Amino acid sequence: MNIQDNLNHIRHRIETACQKTSRDPEDVSVVAVTKYVSVETTQNAVDAGVVHLGENRDEGFLHKHGQVTGDIRWHFIGTLQSRKVKSIIDKVDYIHSLDRKSLAKEINKRADRKVKCFVQVNVSGEESKHGIEPEQLIDFIKQLEPYDSIEVVGLMTMAPHIEDEERLRNIFKKTRKLQTDVQALNLPFAPCTELSMGMSNDYEIAVEEGATFVRIGTSLVGKEI
Ligand SMILES: *Cc1c(COP(=O)(O)O)cnc(C)c1O
Repeated sequence: MNIQDNLNHIRHRIETACQKTSRDPEDVSVVAVTKYVSVETTQNAVDAGVVHLGENRDEGFLHKHGQVTGDIRWHFIGTLQSRKVKSIIDKVDYIHSLDRKSLAKEINKRADRKVKCFVQVNVSGEESKHGIEPEQLIDFIKQLEPYDSIEVVGLMTMAPHIEDEERLRNIFKKTRKLQTDVQALNLPFAPCTELSMGMSNDYEIAVEEGATFVRIGTSLVGKEI
């Protein structure tokens, strides 16, 4: 597993997806998802040029945060229990999984600065997936207004693990449409300029459909556990 080669390969494919759709590759950031790999492998990814690291559990997040060094932006990408907010809030640069008001309230209570949050939307409609239902998104975002520490920088979605390219594309297109709907509200606390979507098996489609953050684990850093 050569992370530098993987990273070059992924960046190249992102560039191709951007060319196809007249986008600037600079607008797409790769978040290396390190939940399946060691501190050492995570450090190798940073040394290879990765800036954004994503973890989906508080233990993993704190473990990597305490040991991996470099100029790093830290992303929390998994379901976040309210009682775990306190331990990560001072260390996190982005939270990708804001999906309920009680979590917004807790983030607001614990943060002493504005926290960049993605609202997670369940666009695929899978019951197992967390996230706000698309029909409830606008109401949900409006309800975040009183929470001064929350900035809705964008929307996050997870597509199912399927091969059906059209279905995947459709999920990403719908997410982008929802982003446009949020932007049209012109809410100062919800600029919603970002889209966190695309993983190892579908990131090119996600980039073609407007992703600005792709969350890539397996095909970038591998799977050790
Ligand atoms: C694990 C995970 C990823 C990365 O998955 P890969 O298929 O390994 O690229 C992305 N997003 C979230 C929320 C994850 O939990």
